[in-house]
Amino acid sequence: MALLEIQDLKTYYYTLRGPVKAVDGINFQVKKGEALGLAGESGCGKTTVALSVLRILPAGGKIVGGKILFRGEDLVKLKDKRMREIRWKGISIVFQGAMNALNPLFKVGDQIVEAIRLHEPKVKKKQAWERTEKLFETVGLEPSRAKHYPHEYSGGMRQRGLIAMALACNPGLLIADEPGTALDVIVQAQVLKLMSELKDKLNLGMILITHDLSIITETCEKTAIMYAGKIVEQGDIVTIFKEPLHPYTQGLISAFPSIKAAKRRMTSIHGSPPDLLKPPTGCRFHPRCPHAMDICKKEDPRPLKLARDHYVACHLVEMGKTG
Ligand code: SF4
Repeated sequence: MALLEIQDLKTYYYTLRGPVKAVDGINFQVKKGEALGLAGESGCGKTTVALSVLRILPAGGKIVGGKILFRGEDLVKLKDKRMREIRWKGISIVFQGAMNALNPLFKVGDQIVEAIRLHEPKVKKKQAWERTEKLFETVGLEPSRAKHYPHEYSGGMRQRGLIAMALACNPGLLIADEPGTALDVIVQAQVLKLMSELKDKLNLGMILITHDLSIITETCEKTAIMYAGKIVEQGDIVTIFKEPLHPYTQGLISAFPSIKAAKRRMTSIHGSPPDLLKPPTGCRFHPRCPHAMDICKKEDPRPLKLARDHYVACHLVEMGKTG
């Protein structure tokens, strides 16, 4: 059984101008010890997936359909009390922007101790501090640093502190939302390496949300590419990055440089992602797709299973042609 299984998840934001279909019928699975990279341009619904899984959507956001099965329990149907137990102990998140995610008024260690004791009230303060210091060692921070305030940390240290906090209650699934944002490339690489090592050491399931495909190739076993609230292609990273079939995946990969592959000209995807208040009819990518056909404007392509865990939603692929 998968650790997390998302089935036909739909999450909309209700605005005065109508519903924004931020996540519109997506499916994927994450197993123990496996990392899935959720990729796509800004505004494609990646973060909304994370907020739906934890059920911490902002005002106006609502899960309107589908299932989120975590260890067999459907999180969509859970009572708030049970959901509170699952957050941190079952699923935790490393938010983007470490400075904003930590409370500047409290020492980092105190914030972690508080999280431990809130979820495990029987744990004494001394024990919680010992656990916190061990967590600091695990994430490569000096334990004495637990007594410092967030402003006394560098960006990389703050991100490590947040990872320590996310691991405080031994979760089974860790969601990392753009964990490298605002870090320089060296520190970013160190933080991602740490996350990858922790995933293997603790047998964690992981969802890594990013717009940077190179991060996914370094850190994840598989990827799901999102466009305008839908997953257009998913599979293991070797399949997706070697032979992407969906024109959007191809466009994303062509827009990134590679230091390993043969020299080639980088190309961008023309146009911008659509307004999800009024998404395009049929395939949502058709206004930007270089291969769009008449059928693409009328019919939304269904995800087609091509191989184990490799799915593509594209009429071109359905017809046996590739871009
Ligand atoms: Fe392009 Fe049509 Fe495939 Fe959409 S369904 S990606 S428009 S070819």
